[in-house]
Order: sequence, then structure tokens, then C-alpha cells
Amino acid sequence: MAVQPLHFVLVPLLAPGHVIPMLDLARLIAGRGGARVTVVLTPVSAARNRAVLEHALREGLAVDVAELQFPRPALGLPEGCESHDMVTEPSHIMLFYEAVWLLAGPLETYLRALPRRPDCLVADTCNPWTADVARRLDIPRFVFHGPSAFFLLAHHSLAKHGVHDNDSVAAGEFEQFEVPDFPGRVVTSKATSRGFFQFPGMEKERRDALRAEATADGFVFNTCAAFESAYIKGYGDALDRKVWAVGPLCLLDSDAETTAGRGNRAAVDAGLVASWLDERPHQSVLYVSFGSMARLLPSQLAELAAGLESSNRPFVWVIRDWETDDLDAGFDEGVEGRGLVIRGWAPQMTILSHPAVGGFLTHCGWNSTLESLSHGVPLLTWPHIADQFLNETLVVDVLGAGVRVGVKVPALHVFLNPELYAEQVGRDDIKWALTELMDEGAGIRATAKKLATMAREAMAEGGSSDRDVADMVRHVGELAQRKEKGVPELGNNEKTDGQVKTSALG
Ligand code: UDP
Repeated sequence: MAVQPLHFVLVPLLAPGHVIPMLDLARLIAGRGGARVTVVLTPVSAARNRAVLEHALREGLAVDVAELQFPRPALGLPEGCESHDMVTEPSHIMLFYEAVWLLAGPLETYLRALPRRPDCLVADTCNPWTADVARRLDIPRFVFHGPSAFFLLAHHSLAKHGVHDNDSVAAGEFEQFEVPDFPGRVVTSKATSRGFFQFPGMEKERRDALRAEATADGFVFNTCAAFESAYIKGYGDALDRKVWAVGPLCLLDSDAETTAGRGNRAAVDAGLVASWLDERPHQSVLYVSFGSMARLLPSQLAELAAGLESSNRPFVWVIRDWETDDLDAGFDEGVEGRGLVIRGWAPQMTILSHPAVGGFLTHCGWNSTLESLSHGVPLLTWPHIADQFLNETLVVDVLGAGVRVGVKVPALHVFLNPELYAEQVGRDDIKWALTELMDEGAGIRATAKKLATMAREAMAEGGSSDRDVADMVRHVGELAQRKEKGVPELGNNEKTDGQVKTSALG
């Protein structure tokens, strides 16, 4: 009987910053690991990522998509609203996550109907509802961690010490303290270390995520040892589980067509953007983008516009659809020839890989951070929420590849109290930070270039990330063989909800 290839099922959170790296991971496992990979999406995310999926097929990779219907109508969410970035009403955020949690039923039905049980389920850290499904079907489950290992280790330690227990947004939010049990001294506050599911009312989601983390069979990180070895190791030791660092996944390939279509169809032609950049001097352009979900208050947007206008430097600025009405109508004319404003989805990898780009003003989402560092572009950091403040600490204080713009207050607090925090970054702060990075930042730029070389070495054949992918696939193969021979799977059968009695095979 012919040996069947291993079958991995990947379950990303329905948000561009989560689907993009998971699709890269799918191509990596199928390409270098020789396995079959199914990515679980809903129709909107599948359609948005069609270019990447078609590219995988052309490469001859065994990557397919299982499309589940998003239970949007059951929660009364508006038509088409089935990805986190499409949730524009704050009151819909909880409903969106309720709908995501309801995917457990359709996922289980899909898995049960397969002719053969998959060998491994890899689920996003924000999809903890997959834990019970995998346990019921006896499928080994890995958690895919989208954020940095630095953030995850800090967050794990803070959770262990109960820092965010019974959390409401209250007094003491901004008191500084040192992260306990951490390799190196890192200072944070409750406000800037909240992590995911930080909206008041999302306590159940937060608890579920911690429980799914504690019961996972292993962890896959989108990072590389050269950036974060101490934190990757610290995390594996703390959880007593296998960890594999397989990134930066954005370096998987540089096929222009595929990368231009990452996450969504770009609102502008990637070739036209590249031509615009071709005409600008080497490392002169600032790229400005805050990812797929962040939103600046109108007054803050106006300060940024004024800072860019008065800086007299070339820039590419990405503005999300929901911000376009807030930008002064005459802005584009005022900066003509010097500034390119993209309204909607930008071909970010095309921009960051262009030699004219010399800096990235970013919200420090982990994908954007990795995409910048992987191309040797230093960062100007403007974190908003979740893991982003700790990513900023890693980039600026630990790696030495960025300059802070000076944000002190997370977007959640701005949202709850706009009068207090509306304009925390002024036009002069932006001008100052730009000079620090673009004119005075030779050392920072050299560090970013070094990190880019290290990232490429990690992803190349025989590099640390390449070896980790091979080891992860080998490990799943061993688990599958044990199952076939009826040898009990250590750890998997001996776990109870929320409590691990033994670690998985090591
Ligand atoms: N992205 C893009 N074009 C855009 C905005 C975002 O290609 O106009 C991509 C970006 O390259 C990254 C992802 O979307 O891969 C955003 O992920 P990140 O973790 O940086 O931030 P999030 O959107 O999750 O806050």
C-alpha cells in the first residue's frame, strides 16, 4: 500500500494579519515538508487570498482550502462581515468572536467527514475553540503563534503572576514594573502588556486562549532564532513543550505577483508603485502604514499629515478606507511629486523590498515588523494595541533597529477616553523621529541590514528555521506512526482540560 503523505489542517483567525502568515506556513509545510495541507477559511478570506492559493497550485504544492460558512447571520452581523478588519462597529467585535467560536461545529463536521483523520491541526493562538475539537477527534494540535516570542514569553509570565486577573481598565494601568522571570530586564505596564482579547467583556476568550495554550502539543512561531533565541527557548522551557521557530515566513519567496496579492487585492497597481519608487533616491522614502485594522482619530491623522507635509521627505502613506474621509481633501495636491497616498490595500511587500524605502512608520504588528526587518528597513514605532508595545520594546531596546515616535497610551484607552488622549503624537514628534531615523540613524540602519541577512540565512536551506520546519514535520510523522502501531501518544491522551500531566513527545 502506498504511503500517504502527512496531512496538516491549518486554522487561522479570520483577519489578514493571521491568514497571511498561515498561508505562508501552508506553502512551507507542503513545499519543504512534502506534506498535504488544508487551510480552513470562510468564503471572503478564501476569495481575498486567491492569488496566493493559485500560486501554490502552480508551484505543484498540495495546498487546498476547506471553506466553512461563517455563522454571521446567526449573530446578526452585517453582510460580508467575516474578517476582523471588516468589523467597523465596536459593538460588533464581541459578536464577531462569538461567530468565530461557533465555527467549532462546522470544523468538527468537516474533519469527521474526511476519509482519513488529519495527522496534525495547527490553530492560531486566537482560535482556542479548536482545542476541544482536536481532543475529541484525537488529533495532535499545535498552536501557531503570530506574535513575537518576546511578547509571548512576557505575556505568559504576566499571566502566571496574575497581573491581568480581574482586569478592568482602571487605576494603576500605567504604573511601570519589570516583567518577572524574564531573560533580561524589561519594563512594561498593565496597559501596554494586555495582549489579545483585551476588550472589557472578553474574559472568556482570554481564559480559553490560556487553556488552549496550556494543553497544546507544541508551538510554531513566526520568528527565527537569530532575532529571539532566548525568548523562544524561554517559552519552550516555561511551557515544557516543543517549540519550532520557522520564520520569517514572509521570506518564503519573492514572487512579485504573489506578494503583491498578499492578504487582499491591492487598491493600486504594484508595478506603478514600484515605478514611483524607482524615481526616488536610495533609502530616501518613508513608508507609513498601520496594518489592516488600526484606526487613527481624525485629530491624530491631521497631526500625522502635518508632520509628513512639513518633513519635506518623500513618503508612501497607506490610509484605510475608513480613514479617507478624515484626511483633508487638499492633502494629496499639497504633497504632489513627493508623497504617494494609497487609499485601501497596499502591496506592502513590493514597497518594503524596494531599495528607495529607507524607513517604515509602523504600528509594530508582528508581520509588518518582520517584513521590515527581513528587508533591512529600520522602523519608526507607533504601537496601538495587543502585542505591539512589547514588539516595540524588542525592536528598539533589544534589537536596536528602530526609533520610538513616543506613543504612551494604547488605542483601547484612547477609544474609551478620547478627550484625554486624542493627540498623543504631535507633528513635531513625528518630524523629530524622522530626523533621528532617516538622518542620524546610520547605526540603526546597519543593524536592520544585519538582521535581514540573518533572517535570510535562517530561512535558507540548512538554516535554523529550515531545520525547525523539518523537525516539526518529522515529529508529526513520528506521532502518526505511533498511532498506527497503537503506541499510546505521550501527553495527548493524558491531558485533562486546562491541566497537562505530561509533556508531548520530545
Ligand atoms: N498588509 C498589506 N497591505 C496593507 C495593509 C497590510 O499587505 O495595506 C499586510 C502586511 O504586509 C502584513 C499584514 O497585512 O502582512 C498585517 O499584519 P500585521 O501583523 O502587521 O498587522 P495587523 O493588521 O494584524 O494589525
